[in-house]
Amino acid sequence: MEKKKKQIAVLGSTGSIGTQALEVISEHPNLFDVEVLTANNNSKLLIKQAKKFKPNTVVITNEKKYTEVNDALFNLGIKVFAGKKSLEEVVEGENIDLVLTALVGYSGLKPTIRAIKSSKNIALANKETLVVAGDLITKLCQEYGVQIYPVDSEHSAIFQCLVGETYSPIEKIYLTASGGPFRGWSKAELKNITKEQALKHPNWDMGAKITIDSASLMNKGLEVIEAKWLFDLRAEQIEVVVHPQSIIHSAVQFEDGSIKAQIGLPDMKLPIQYALGFPERLKNNFRRFSFMDYPQFTFEKPEFETFRNLQLAYNAMQKGGNMPCILNAANEVAVSAFLKDKIGFLNMSDLIADCMEKITFVDNPSLEDYVATNNATRILANELL
Ligand code: NDP
Ligand code: MG
Repeated sequence: MEKKKKQIAVLGSTGSIGTQALEVISEHPNLFDVEVLTANNNSKLLIKQAKKFKPNTVVITNEKKYTEVNDALFNLGIKVFAGKKSLEEVVEGENIDLVLTALVGYSGLKPTIRAIKSSKNIALANKETLVVAGDLITKLCQEYGVQIYPVDSEHSAIFQCLVGETYSPIEKIYLTASGGPFRGWSKAELKNITKEQALKHPNWDMGAKITIDSASLMNKGLEVIEAKWLFDLRAEQIEVVVHPQSIIHSAVQFEDGSIKAQIGLPDMKLPIQYALGFPERLKNNFRRFSFMDYPQFTFEKPEFETFRNLQLAYNAMQKGGNMPCILNAANEVAVSAFLKDKIGFLNMSDLIADCMEKITFVDNPSLEDYVATNNATRILANELL
């Protein structure tokens, strides 16, 4: 008998992760079906994707684009909705088996919560959701029996290393980092770099926000917090190791000292496929890694002094409460300002540190507290700009 296909909702289908996920899905038409597609602004690509994948429903968050999308898809029997509320509601669809959250930033939080409350398993690319409200999300997952399959390559690596290790406590994890385009640069050299320089990542081709985060090492900071929640770790158990080749995607050290690492070429399609296909490994024709092409793997300590964002993220994690939410909101404002040439590269950390000092700390935040913190931080950060 043929197996029932997994029905997937792809939130953020027009982005870097979203488009690669659709490639993976189209390579396994007997395993996956697209139930939902969503975009923020990119109506043209959303329409093209919908015509190809014939989902049940699409959502365009920008309401001004509703008519264009609806006119194009109405005759195909595809339901079209617009606005933020629709993005939250669409994940509840009863046919959906798995929700891939490939939205960027804080916008992923509420749709992810709604998906969990509808008992949908999550393939999580949108790390900011766990940074903002990791405690709340983890509790909800327990309450609703929901699994999170990490898409982020480092967390996928750790997740893969942990398969079959139910009885093996983790001593620590090594979260690898490429170091970004400015590895080894001094503060003086970083002062006047342009967005064009920061947007060129040596190993990965990604959306603009995460590319800037990778250059500033905030991405690694966010990933440290993401790892804490996904694998239930303390700060001392998470060590960042700079590995410029980006071949070892991360590693787990168990209590007997043994280390398992996951390695492969830097290609997000592999972790995406693992998250969509779990627990199965699916055969594919992705380019294979060859040891002979990489005679040397190298490792360095991250420069916490130069790349202050990484330290700020550790501080936020250790403080807990709404502090990581403050860090995230301030960073989103900082990155967007940097991309508009409003602030310099190093000023991003100043802005974040300022917000972490000035916004009221809340110890055990509710969802309402997180929403309020996010709003207050954005207002303050914009004033400070
Ligand atoms: P992109 O910017 O490429 O894509 C973001 C997607 O979300 C697009 O579909 C975009 O729509 C949509 N979107 C953006 N803002 C909003 C909003 N406010 N409301 C609703 N939809 C929105 O991002 P990436 O694919 O690079 O990243 C997605 C997530 O995955 C991020 O959290 C990132 O940290 C994480 N990630 C990404 C990796 C990568 O290789 N790219 C690697 C590891 C993690 P539109 O196109 O219409 O603007
Ligand atoms: Mg990553």
